Amino acid sequence: SREEKLNYIMGKIRPFNDFPSKGVLFRDICPLMKDHKALCATIDLFEEYVKQTYPMVDFIVGLDARGFLFGPLLAQRLGVGFVLVRKKGKLPGPTESVSYTLEYGQAEVEVQADAVEKGQRVLLIDDLIATGGSLHAACELMKKCGAEVLGCLVLIELKGLKGVERQGSTPVFSLFQY
Ligand code: AMP
Repeated sequence: SREEKLNYIMGKIRPFNDFPSKGVLFRDICPLMKDHKALCATIDLFEEYVKQTYPMVDFIVGLDARGFLFGPLLAQRLGVGFVLVRKKGKLPGPTESVSYTLEYGQAEVEVQADAVEKGQRVLLIDDLIATGGSLHAACELMKKCGAEVLGCLVLIELKGLKGVERQGSTPVFSLFQY
């Protein structure tokens, strides 16, 4: 059942204190990736949600880097392609980019200019939403390319940081909330 799957997956997410810096409780998904049953269950739950909520989606768009772990598996289940949103400087050819502010300094996300066509419907995916800055920038980037952003998918939402509110009217679906 859904509850059993959620419980099983939750047991494979490992917390680490003070990583990568003091005061951060890092949610490590490596044990989940290593476990066949947990990885299948994760994709099952995303697939079920997307098929019920968004029967018409053209692409799954993954965020660099842990969105690349789940996005292609989900895209295959849905029978659609996968688009990479990368950190600046990794993609060849013409690109579009959006820069955003981090706690310390600036970051930039980039996509190939021909990745989507105007009006194509996309769902973004990442492992975790904290402040929501990364997903917000990626959504802006997809809109800049003419895509229709249906929503965002994450395994984990850190509720205290209000990252979902930051997405405005774009819905964010999460499997776990801490
Ligand atoms: P944000 O842009 O603040 O929503 O940060 C989200 C990105 O940072 C995601 O790609 C996560 O992989 C990573 N991240 C932020 N906080 C954590 C955390 N506590 N544990 C694991 N990853 C995190």
